[in-house]
Amino acid sequence: MSETPLLQVERLVKHFPAKRGVLFQRIIGTVKAVDDITFDVRAGETVGVVGESGCGKSTMGRLVLRLIEPTSGKVTFDGHDVRELNRERLRVLRRDMQIIFQDPYASLNPRLSVGEMLAEPLRLHGGMSGAPMKARIDELLTTVGLSSWHALRYPHEFSGGQRQRLGISRALATRPKLIVCDEPVSALDVSIQAQVINLLKSLQKRFGIAYIFIAHDLAVVRHISDRVAVMYLGRIVEMADKKALFGRPMHPYTRALLAAAPVADPTAPKKAAPIEGDIPSPLRPPSGCTFHTRCPFAQERCKRDVPELRTLAAGHTVACHFAESLPSADDIAARAAPYAGRLAAYRRAVAQARAA
Ligand code: SF4
Repeated sequence: MSETPLLQVERLVKHFPAKRGVLFQRIIGTVKAVDDITFDVRAGETVGVVGESGCGKSTMGRLVLRLIEPTSGKVTFDGHDVRELNRERLRVLRRDMQIIFQDPYASLNPRLSVGEMLAEPLRLHGGMSGAPMKARIDELLTTVGLSSWHALRYPHEFSGGQRQRLGISRALATRPKLIVCDEPVSALDVSIQAQVINLLKSLQKRFGIAYIFIAHDLAVVRHISDRVAVMYLGRIVEMADKKALFGRPMHPYTRALLAAAPVADPTAPKKAAPIEGDIPSPLRPPSGCTFHTRCPFAQERCKRDVPELRTLAAGHTVACHFAESLPSADDIAARAAPYAGRLAAYRRAVAQARAA
């Protein structure tokens, strides 16, 4: 994996006007969907992006590809300022930047056969036709674990997992350097999820593609990512390589997300309290640190000052005023450990009483 950033995102912002009324729509506020995000992606690496629904992760993915226009900020891909490109140059650059959507069926044209669907980008971006195009379509289908005769079929004839393979084959058609995977396995059964994730990993190894992998399932993100960014209300609150983020989470929100994730052993001591309450409306985000309404460590300063994303260890950035002084996750686990056995016994007793 290269150390050179393939993609650099600097202070990216997207605000949507919030409107009310049917005929005469009035602007009643601003939704800060993405609010001052900075990160990079190296060639051939996977950056996982996690957070609750509505935290802005999908909007961020679309902004990077300029499928929607940012309010401000800079996106540099392979040395090109994406915001400065005209239509034609953006179309050429799109060969190298592709997206895979959550719902493959909605993103596939039901009137086109698979062959016709794959022919489109090959014609548009590669100028291909005839036998070379047919050979490339066969190659794409076999690369994602389908057969060349699938080219004659239509999207409704495929299962959910196969449709996602079709979505991947279409993204691969132009030999991209970066693919934004927007919740690509969320709609699939667990066994199919694993197959699609393994397929993405093997394609990355083979073709050196970088992924921005957006998901809300921490187990999936942990499996596929090299580095992970945690988002809350439009901002990155923590970013680190996978080992550091899952082994030593520093932001209270990351800890709460990890504590809320299902584990194989329900009696294992928790390293933080699971997060409580709903995510606040991005239309009226809390002042200061937007997490202060749900944070067990919040202090007066948190209501007032927006925490900057600070580097607290090599490659580990955290947006929390008190990240260095919070009790470590291991401390919390150690303090809770004497009670873990009693809690398990209590749970067993309750279960037995209910069964009796
Ligand atoms: Fe919690 Fe304050 Fe840190 Fe925000 S800045 S995460 S409210 S301790």
